[in-house]
Amino acid sequence: MDDAERKMQFLYALRSRGVTNNSVLTAMEKIDRAPFIKGYFAERAYEDMPLPIACGQTISQPSVVGLMTQALEVTPRDTVLEVGTGSGYQAAILSQLARRVYTVDRHQRLVREAREVFDDLGLTNVTAFTADGSFGLPDQAPFDRILVTAAAEDPPGPLLAQLKVGGIMVLPVGQSDTVQHLIRVRRTPDGLEYDELRPVRFVPLIEGVARDA
Ligand code: SAH
Repeated sequence: MDDAERKMQFLYALRSRGVTNNSVLTAMEKIDRAPFIKGYFAERAYEDMPLPIACGQTISQPSVVGLMTQALEVTPRDTVLEVGTGSGYQAAILSQLARRVYTVDRHQRLVREAREVFDDLGLTNVTAFTADGSFGLPDQAPFDRILVTAAAEDPPGPLLAQLKVGGIMVLPVGQSDTVQHLIRVRRTPDGLEYDELRPVRFVPLIEGVARDA
């Protein structure tokens, strides 16, 4: 299979799993997943599978990236916070749809490597920090959109507090060894509205910055 065929299949898999939003599909067509996967597994970049990355973490399944991005309803004027940079792939997709993207990970190595890929790809509207993302980014807050790519038992309070009125947060909730649910939280002038989207499986949101940092 040549590259063009592989890419066609990749987009077909996304569509058949429910990623139908055209701007999301265009972003995912534009951002090649391979540079975000180092070494051996890079050749499997176009399969709709989660794959291992450094620090014992995983790059999410592309269709899940697509569905989460779609659920976030990003507009070109939005400032977005992503918690859980991992490989940087999800942040790169968001960079195509938003005005500004901040992404944080508790592993310094992942942040450093993701920054290198952002630089290589010329993505100038993404900034990555090493931090415990459950506290959000008080200096850059508030955010129009927040996407969490690690599972917490409940939506972290500081993240809810950093969401603008009219803002949307998408995150997996539940214990890491059981079924988790992807939920969407909207902050309206009257308070918070929750809806449950689908079952998912993510690595856990862990307290504190990692010791390798
Ligand atoms: N979005 C990533 C995949 C994320 S995997 C991608 O596109 O590749 C989940 C990531 O969340 C891991 O890299 C893990 O280190 C990070 N993480 C877990 N707990 C965290 C916390 N409290 N603060 C910031 N990052 C955290």
